[in-house]
Amino acid sequence: MAPDASGLAGRKVLIVDDDRANVEVVRSGLAPYGYRFFEAHDGAQALSAIRQHRPDLIVMDVEMPGLGGVEVCRIVKANQNESGFGFIPVILMTASHRSGKVEGLELGADDYLVKPFDMLELSARVKSMLRLKALQDELVSKNRELDLANRELERKRRELLELSRTDALTGLINRRYFEERLAVEFARSDRYRSPLSCLMLDLDHFKAVNDTYGHAFGDRVLQEVSKVVVKTLRDVDLVARYGGEELIALLPETGPEEAMRASERIRKGIAELGLEADGQKRVRCTASIGVATFPVPAIETSEALLRAADDCLYAAKEAGRNRVCQHEE
Ligand code: GH3
Ligand code: MG
Ligand code: MG
Ligand code: MG
Repeated sequence: MAPDASGLAGRKVLIVDDDRANVEVVRSGLAPYGYRFFEAHDGAQALSAIRQHRPDLIVMDVEMPGLGGVEVCRIVKANQNESGFGFIPVILMTASHRSGKVEGLELGADDYLVKPFDMLELSARVKSMLRLKALQDELVSKNRELDLANRELERKRRELLELSRTDALTGLINRRYFEERLAVEFARSDRYRSPLSCLMLDLDHFKAVNDTYGHAFGDRVLQEVSKVVVKTLRDVDLVARYGGEELIALLPETGPEEAMRASERIRKGIAELGLEADGQKRVRCTASIGVATFPVPAIETSEALLRAADDCLYAAKEAGRNRVCQHEE
């Protein structure tokens, strides 16, 4: 096999030994493989070389004055999380058969050589450790990609969820999602006996607006009316497009008087809109609103609350439109 056929040429190998002759031995033994070498001659130098060069492998003497190989190895292994050095394999070298072997492996050295070792053994172990490191690096980067992809997926999921709850024309929530929320709000209100008001709004003679000024203008009216409703109510209130030109609002913690006042403000706000059609003419639009508030004896379910608001809306239409009608107990 050609020396660099393993694809490991250019990998960074840090050789640490207080005995410079041994550094040379290791270096020349590994020379044919095209690795990049860095040297350190004591533990402290080794640590700063690790910080500076981020080697792919450390081949390190155990017996050094001061900070020994085992201590350096322990530091490297204690910092192998992503915010530290990452995983760097360590091959420890010792001059004796007696000392350190068990200790070195227990402290997380990945391999072990006893001096004097032959060059074939050295190069084989170095190669296998560099392969391990390459695999580990690949795993880390794949994991990172996976993390990113997962985050992107989660973002898309939220986006889709948001879309599935939104009415495209007005940006309000749609009827389906409103009904989901209504069930929750009604249950809460029922449990704590806190007031919950429902407003149902329908534009007056909207067919005529469409017929006279066109559907696109009608769409704009719907958008502007939606803005008036949202602007008039509080952030905690739910405003939905309930049907074609029908909006609905749910006001938690809101009693009948307050609901009536809000409805009047909405009715007035819409009547004052006066949108320009054909770039000049100001078109007046009005809405009728039905209001019902829970809890009252006549209302026991969320459906009954909606029905009561709808009945009042019908009554408002019957009474001449552009007005608010409130449910009586
Ligand atoms: P009323 O005062 O009794 O409510 O009269 P109306 O004309 O509003 O009632 P009707 O139900 O007869 O007509 C509703 C109109 O609303 C008909 C339809 O074309 C219009 N409409 C419904 N959805 C949309 C929409 O998304 N865009 C536009 N431009 N018009 C819509
Ligand atoms: Mg030594
Ligand atoms: Mg209608
Ligand atoms: Mg209408």
